[in-house]
Amino acid sequence: MVKDEKIVLTGDRPTGKLHLGHFVGSIRNRVKLQDEADKSFYMVADIQALTDNAQNPEKVRANVLEVALDNLACGLDPKKTIMFIQSEIPEIAELTVLFLNLVTLARLKRNPTVKSEMKDKGYGEDVPAGFLTYPVSQAADILFAESNLIPVGEDQLPVIEQVNEIVDDFNRFYGETFKRVKHLVGDIPRLIGTDGNSKMGKSLNNGIYLSDSYDEISKKVMNMYTDPNHIHVEDKGKVEGNIVFTYLDIFDENKEEVLELKKQYEKGGLGDVVIKKRLIEVLEKLIKPIREKRKEFEKHPEEVMKILEDGTKKAREEAKKTMAKVKKAIKIDYF
Ligand code: ATP
Ligand code: MG
Repeated sequence: MVKDEKIVLTGDRPTGKLHLGHFVGSIRNRVKLQDEADKSFYMVADIQALTDNAQNPEKVRANVLEVALDNLACGLDPKKTIMFIQSEIPEIAELTVLFLNLVTLARLKRNPTVKSEMKDKGYGEDVPAGFLTYPVSQAADILFAESNLIPVGEDQLPVIEQVNEIVDDFNRFYGETFKRVKHLVGDIPRLIGTDGNSKMGKSLNNGIYLSDSYDEISKKVMNMYTDPNHIHVEDKGKVEGNIVFTYLDIFDENKEEVLELKKQYEKGGLGDVVIKKRLIEVLEKLIKPIREKRKEFEKHPEEVMKILEDGTKKAREEAKKTMAKVKKAIKIDYF
């Protein structure tokens, strides 16, 4: 029997602290859904982080705490969301091996997310096999807990599509076992980077972090591109493709004032410093409470690790149940 519950699962790769892209793309939905779902899981995807950081385990280890802190600071509540570490659930690795048989190499190479990330990393044919197959491992992350609602950024949609192909094949070969999964993309499906790159990313060095100080926010905003032809205050400026306005559109609550500023900017007579200063204040208003709550959690790292340890125990129970079902379905339940 396939369960008919709303089970949410999300996660972050511990490759760095979390940024505004995570906040608008996924975290806001995580926090909202933990009240609405029947069950909610949050995973620190350390195994997935190792797929492109195999030579740098220190980085992955150090960031496990950081991503957990960021989520707690944003309001993820361990009483409502089971927070756990991927590598501590061996059933995920077991499921990955079984799912690998349902996926072809050609299909993996065609996955647009993997393709574009491989390009960013300059891998070519020398891609680590673990990296190429991470969508399969992601299917295991999602399905070990029979999750069916996945809040993600737009960049992850092709991965979710591949997960559903695995679900379909599994059910076809071994009988109805898993439910198809649904994605939930945030209000801002893909936040651009401070450098204008189409995605803000931890590994791309173009992020404003949820833990950034006022000075760091200011420096990053002051360095943003506006319109390269807007040199003097009186010059007419372009709003489209102007990163500062893109961010104001997303984060400034006063839409009318932003519209006025845009008109003024296009007409000429509005300096870049004015709009940048406004953006700094808007972002500070958003980030300050998160940063302050984070500082409280930072004082007790052992408590945060305990949250992960307790959550991992609960997640493991789910994993064992699912694994028993899977083994039975595949007829490898011998003893
Ligand atoms: P890395 O560069 O190491 O892959 P990342 O910044 O892409 O890091 P992930 O841990 O891979 O972060 O992603 C965690 C979640 O946040 C995913 O659901 C992803 O889709 C979402 N996300 C990441 N960056 C953005 C963004 N710029 N806009 C919207 N959502 C995002
Ligand atoms: Mg990513």
